Amino acid sequence: MPDRLVLLGSKGGPALRPGGPWPSSSLLQIGGRTIVVDCGLGVTRSLADAGIDLKGLDLIFITHLHSDHVLELGPLLHTAWTAGLATPVTVFGPPGTGHYWQRFCQAMEFDIAIRIADEGRPDIRELVSIDEFGEGQVVAQGSLKVSALRVDHPPVTDCFALRFEHGGKSVVFSADTAFFPALADFAEGADILVHEAMLEEGIERLVARTGNGARLREHLLASHSFAEEAGRIAGDAGVKRLVLNHLIPADDHEIGEADWIAAVRRTWMGDLTIARDGLVVELA
Ligand SMILES: [Zn+2]
Ligand SMILES: [Zn+2]
Repeated sequence: MPDRLVLLGSKGGPALRPGGPWPSSSLLQIGGRTIVVDCGLGVTRSLADAGIDLKGLDLIFITHLHSDHVLELGPLLHTAWTAGLATPVTVFGPPGTGHYWQRFCQAMEFDIAIRIADEGRPDIRELVSIDEFGEGQVVAQGSLKVSALRVDHPPVTDCFALRFEHGGKSVVFSADTAFFPALADFAEGADILVHEAMLEEGIERLVARTGNGARLREHLLASHSFAEEAGRIAGDAGVKRLVLNHLIPADDHEIGEADWIAAVRRTWMGDLTIARDGLVVELA
């Protein structure tokens, strides 16, 4: 299995629009491990479409508890379970992830109990373990290492960038963050930096479409990065490739790939990929 990154859901924010992309989720296959990063709506369908056998779920990471990153965590695990999951899955998430999972199982307790009794399934609550992490090293399993950096995503305080390393290859996810210079050290020399991004000219139209204008604009500007800022982090970190992801706006017909590229080129000239759902980036 070649090492690869698949952008499953590439839009920022929880809204769905006709024909538009899904909220945040990614698949990282590295060193024989199958790793899901974030579980926004659509993650289950997109993993299946990416050729992943849900029975083989292995590691799941949640960067923070905004719904566009966690809404489908329970349904993904439950669907994997009904698909025949028989091996343990560990979910690494910020404080509160255990609470979410416990309440999800409570909400589904009728179905869970009946499938255990009627279909002889193992107890999903024993198959899934939740590991709540903070800043620093999160995983050191053989040659797989994962570390976390708290980023700047107010008012959420537990929001973590993640760095995955295996066999000399490294992939860093920015999570949701305003321009955060410390991320450049954290991402230093990475093969791929997946960074969130906004495009200034799209924000006003998005705010007008969504209603709740002033507050939404305030949140976006305080908590997210412009594409130019993602380029600046990529340059300071000296990464080999920047993948712009969690695009805001992601479904504005007046904005195309060329606009995102032009914005990054103001600050950075290196290898660049603009995410779209299902896009595969090989880890050379
Ligand atoms: Zn988000
Ligand atoms: Zn967020």
